[in-house]
Amino acid sequence: MVEAVGVRKSFGRTEVLKGIDLTVRPGEVTCLIGPSGSGKSTFLRCINHLETIDGGRLSVNGHLVGYRQKGDRLYELKPREVAAKRREIGMVFQRFNLFPHLTAEQNIMHAPMLVRGESKKAARARAADLLERVGLAGRGHHYPAQLSGGQQQRVAIARALAMQPPLMLFDEPTSALDPELVGEVLDVMKGLAAEGMTMVVVTHEMGFAKEVADSVYFMDDGAVVESGRPADLLDDPRHERTRAFLSKVL
Ligand code: ATP
Ligand code: MG
Repeated sequence: MVEAVGVRKSFGRTEVLKGIDLTVRPGEVTCLIGPSGSGKSTFLRCINHLETIDGGRLSVNGHLVGYRQKGDRLYELKPREVAAKRREIGMVFQRFNLFPHLTAEQNIMHAPMLVRGESKKAARARAADLLERVGLAGRGHHYPAQLSGGQQQRVAIARALAMQPPLMLFDEPTSALDPELVGEVLDVMKGLAAEGMTMVVVTHEMGFAKEVADSVYFMDDGAVVESGRPADLLDDPRHERTRAFLSKVL
């Protein structure tokens, strides 16, 4: 589903991704962990076409990110084509990016109607299903300001799911939440994982990683220091840097 080989990215003279190798198979949950500034968000943004890469190869769903291949030549995607590709990926950020002037239901209906030309009736039915799935049945008429942070984040997940993406990216989805609201968002994510959704999750929630992830990647200073099954990497890290990081977050 996601294949990264030697992915490089620089901002000016600073190399932020120094050759990332990562593979995510369909139905797998992959967690990215690592200290602040290690490049986790930048890498997710590359997967989601929000950044262009400077080296290596990155493909999602069998298609090179940012390029179209014709024979053995590569053509850069046009902005319209990039936009179309981005719709195949759902992304949830640390801060709930809901439209404040739309209700929960309208937030979820927005993209399917605008982008897909789905009818209001169909979009509303899907929104109701999704609200139920994230445990917010009956809350569709609330505006974001009338919902708790955890509820808003669950609406954000429902909104991302409305486009039926084969891949979901999460960038520290619970970091901005009060501790007592973290569990309800993680539970929704666990449900998604159990249904077989392919997910890449940047998180500091090691309990979640241990319980749900198929593999965990530890990044530091723009590189993958080690990766493996959560039980191996989290309980028995091979590298000193991984050990030092885990001793701080666990
Ligand atoms: P955090 O845990 O704090 O979210 P992160 O692992 O997600 O950190 P990134 O946000 O990917 O780290 O940032 C990696 C490095 O790239 C940092 O040094 C950051 O300052 C730099 N960086 C990120 N975006 C830009 C940008 N648009 N322009 C310049 N530098 C950037
Ligand atoms: Mg980040």
